[in-house]
Amino acid sequence: MFKAILIEKDDQGYRAGLTELDDSALPEGDVTVRVAYSTLNYKDGLAITGRSPVVRKFPMVPGVDLVGTVEHSSHPDYQVGDAVVLNGWGVGETHWGGLAQRARLKGDWLVPLPAAFTPWQAMAIATAGYTAMLCVMALERHGVTPAQGEVVVTGAAGGVGSFAVSLLAKLGYSVAAVTGRPQEADYLKGLGATTVLDRAEFTAPGKPLAKERWAGAVDTVGSHTLANVCAQMKYRGTVAACGLAGGMDFPSTVAPFILRGVTLAGVDSVMCPRPDRLQAWQRLATDLEVSHLDAITRTIGLAEALDVAPQLLAGQVRGRVVVDVNA
Ligand code: NDP
Repeated sequence: MFKAILIEKDDQGYRAGLTELDDSALPEGDVTVRVAYSTLNYKDGLAITGRSPVVRKFPMVPGVDLVGTVEHSSHPDYQVGDAVVLNGWGVGETHWGGLAQRARLKGDWLVPLPAAFTPWQAMAIATAGYTAMLCVMALERHGVTPAQGEVVVTGAAGGVGSFAVSLLAKLGYSVAAVTGRPQEADYLKGLGATTVLDRAEFTAPGKPLAKERWAGAVDTVGSHTLANVCAQMKYRGTVAACGLAGGMDFPSTVAPFILRGVTLAGVDSVMCPRPDRLQAWQRLATDLEVSHLDAITRTIGLAEALDVAPQLLAGQVRGRVVVDVNA
């Protein structure tokens, strides 16, 4: 038997609760993992609360991230006792995920726990840190360098935003952090932000083109914020767009793209091919300021994830939440 958060949807409605399950209930897969830690991402918040239809099969164990130890494997790359990490691949949406003490998965989805990180550190980073790194890699791929000017990060006090600020600052970029929480200015400066801006400057409808400000951008918010960021890009700047915390719409015009040669680079962590994942984790091992993890992260128990999920969606959680599934 193992403890898990289970989401059910039937004629009694949509609900998530802590439960005990038998190992025989685990889904198909060639690797069984004893989970040590999972996390709470924006998507997990949507799944647990039912706010958006991210869960596509019921009953579902949420949790898009996990770290743990292989208990059983018929996959050639993984042996009993190996430490492994999982991010995405629809886990927690269409396949039972990490908010449980046990998981059964496809070995092809796993990556070995990077030697640079402890299991807790790997989950402090997890999808948020790995997505922030994919955004940094997208900016680099499009030629954005620190010498070209400031880079802006929106939703900066959230999980992806905190990592984007920290990574970009460590790489030598001058980082403007956009937040709705002015009380987090010291936190963001501690991560390396040089300027902290009020998100109210970005959330209202703006002009198709505005004063050129940013060489690069990491946007976790979408909607008018993304449109305004695009309008403020310097000539040939690049925006890495990965989120929708402010809305899924994109009320922009083509002006920034056709008049300033701006690039809008989409970033997806879920189906990201394995070589890019391994590269992102490799880069995290060398480029992340590990001492920031304690400031960015807090750890909760499995049952607490149910209460913290709505707080996360309300933008009340700073940085990251690691879930100790055995606490
Ligand atoms: P968090 O909830 O930790 O962070 C989101 C942040 O966005 C908040 O902390 C807040 O930052 C800001 N925000 C929230 N609501 C609004 C609003 N209405 N208007 C403007 N800003 C808002 O989430 P994550 O960091 O985990 O994820 C961020 C986004 O990225 C989500 O949309 C998530 O779905 C997406 N994502 C996408 C991935 C991909 O593969 N493409 C992978 C991971 C996440 P502040 O208080 O500083 O203003």
